[in-house]
Amino acid sequence: AGAMAVFHDVTVQHAREAELTSFAGMVAHDLRTPLTMVVGYTELLAESVDAGSVDPVTLRTPLTQISAGAERMGQLIHDLLVYATARDASLHSTDFDLADVASDVVTLITASLRPEGEPMPRVTVGALPTVRADQNMIRQLLDNLIGNAIKYTPPGEAARIDISAYPDRPGWVRIEVADHGIGVPEGQHEAIFAGFHRAHADGPYAGTGLGLAICKHIVDRHGGTIAVADNPGGGSRFSFTLELGDPQDPDGE
Ligand code: ADP
Repeated sequence: AGAMAVFHDVTVQHAREAELTSFAGMVAHDLRTPLTMVVGYTELLAESVDAGSVDPVTLRTPLTQISAGAERMGQLIHDLLVYATARDASLHSTDFDLADVASDVVTLITASLRPEGEPMPRVTVGALPTVRADQNMIRQLLDNLIGNAIKYTPPGEAARIDISAYPDRPGWVRIEVADHGIGVPEGQHEAIFAGFHRAHADGPYAGTGLGLAICKHIVDRHGGTIAVADNPGGGSRFSFTLELGDPQDPDGE
């Protein structure tokens, strides 16, 4: 038994190391592209300064690219920190009204996410039950899913999002976030939860590919499951399961 335990520990250790190595590799890779951009354009700027040609018009492009590269690196660092926090944080479960939390997240996100001039997203929050979960983590989860639903709706179109609850196994509920956006391409419905997998990387949609890995981690920690299916009317439906709470004892332990 001792030998088996050691064998098991070694195997787990190897799996962790492999996971860490590929994670570090992906982070390094994702940071290198914007960094190359920042370094390249900074050198270009320095050269034009040396050559005495500091024409405001020719400065505009390098400055825009440097700022975009820095912003991208900042976003990646932000998402990595959220990911690390979600991994390390201990679970503080309470009973709370999911409709209140969802409405709150919707208000905050719709006010901040869409750029000026873009139509306001239309989000319908259906009747949602009391759940037993870590409220901060569930906020993060809804924030990522609703944020994606808005982001992956073509520019110029108002995002239409429905958040609803469905029965699941006894004591559990399935929550669905459905959108009418561009949808998840065939064959990528599982891979997008793995981290750093971007199904629309070539389009106008900026991102790090960490949001859904964070979502999956949060739902796993709660003993639930998360998945995506196509929305029959176009777009996608992300659904996750949570334990039901006691509606008489909201915010109790
Ligand atoms: P990010 O949005 O930063 O790329 P995520 O981990 O949140 O990373 O999502 C991974 C990928 O899954 C996205 O790049 C996108 O291709 C796809 N995706 C996520 N949410 C949606 C959605 N609501 N509609 C269509 N595709 C989506």
